[in-house]
Amino acid sequence: MNQTITILGSTGSIGRQTLDVMENLGLSPLALAAGSNDKLMEEQIRKFRPKYAALADEKAALRLKAALGDTDTLITGGTQAVEEIAALPGDTTVCAMSGVAGLKPTLTAIETGHTIALANKETLVCGGDIVLSAAKKHGVDLLPVDSEHSAIFQSLLAGDRRDLKKIILTCSGGPFFGKDKAFLEKVTPADALRHPNWRMGPKITIDCATLMNKGLELIEAMHLFGVTADDIDIVIHRESIFHSFVEFADGAVIGEAAAPDMRLPIQYALTYPRRMTTNVTPLKLWEVGKLTFFPPDEEAFPALRLAKEAARAGGGVPVLLNGANEEAVALFLDGKIGFTDIPQGVAYVLETLDAKAPACFEDVAELDRQARKSLRSYFSL
Ligand code: NDP
Ligand code: MG
Repeated sequence: MNQTITILGSTGSIGRQTLDVMENLGLSPLALAAGSNDKLMEEQIRKFRPKYAALADEKAALRLKAALGDTDTLITGGTQAVEEIAALPGDTTVCAMSGVAGLKPTLTAIETGHTIALANKETLVCGGDIVLSAAKKHGVDLLPVDSEHSAIFQSLLAGDRRDLKKIILTCSGGPFFGKDKAFLEKVTPADALRHPNWRMGPKITIDCATLMNKGLELIEAMHLFGVTADDIDIVIHRESIFHSFVEFADGAVIGEAAAPDMRLPIQYALTYPRRMTTNVTPLKLWEVGKLTFFPPDEEAFPALRLAKEAARAGGGVPVLLNGANEEAVALFLDGKIGFTDIPQGVAYVLETLDAKAPACFEDVAELDRQARKSLRSYFSL
């Protein structure tokens, strides 16, 4: 394998695992970009020796530059520097920044003609139509990294797209599966950050606890696979062994199963259509023993219902959903609002604001700003 790879969000959970996968494949990144973690970025640069690196936080970039005077890596700082990293010539960009901040650099990487290994689901939730039309225009492939979407992508290879009947999106249920509203009202950030099956960044871990993550993934799947919200069923699968299924017209249900380890979908996006050996623990089904499936509880977890409503409404409504949710999750992690306030605040924003379909990145940014402002006003913040 010989590929030029750039990682946006290299210091995050997906970014770190991408470097692990690349090391296993004998690959080195051309360039790395992240937000503000200069300490970890320094370690990554010393180990992988990329030609270029950028941090969005300018002060952190200055510290990094000072610490790495003895290396050849060209270090830059600021949001524009992250954009420039995305615009470097190369084969593949791994889009692993968190939140809507990932949209602009992903668009830049598409315009540069890179294959996109896409982890950042907020990019498709907020800018799905814009991203897809840019990918079409520039003849660029979008390969899913999100484990469910990778499973759907792989399962679709078993049939003809014309015969696809349903997508069945699996959901672990998160740390509060089976709990009721009264319990959820008392949940703390520390409780919500304890995911049973996956180790991820804080924002997506909270989204998994509210089930908003599954709602965002439903919208992500609509864009990636050209289906409607009604073509997608969500099923709670506690063990996270099957990462999703597709159902064909004849009733055959095809899924992908593996140990819950993001290195597998990350690697598949980098080696597709090849499959190479990994460090992922092989799946021993007799050790798993039992696989369980349940319908989701939209009463206790209204975020899922809100996301479905936003998906059906379309236009700019998913941008409002995402912006309000990102802001609410940040406030929850900061101890300013409660766990059940997250969907309540998001519901308020969706009821209060109107949203036309965004035509460009700037439209998305404006809707996102309005959603965050409205969410904060709901909590008088
Ligand atoms: P993390 O919070 O662990 O990492 C986020 C990364 O993005 C960090 O490197 C961070 O840099 C960087 N970043 C944040 N803001 C900016 C910015 N403005 N400019 C440049 N870089 C920035 O998140 P995850 O790795 O968990 O998730 C990343 C994306 O992948 C999310 O969209 C998530 O939904 C998706 N995803 C994650 C999965 C997982 O298992 N973790 C599974 C499936 C999807 P720094 O830390 O240096 O500030
Ligand atoms: Mg997922």
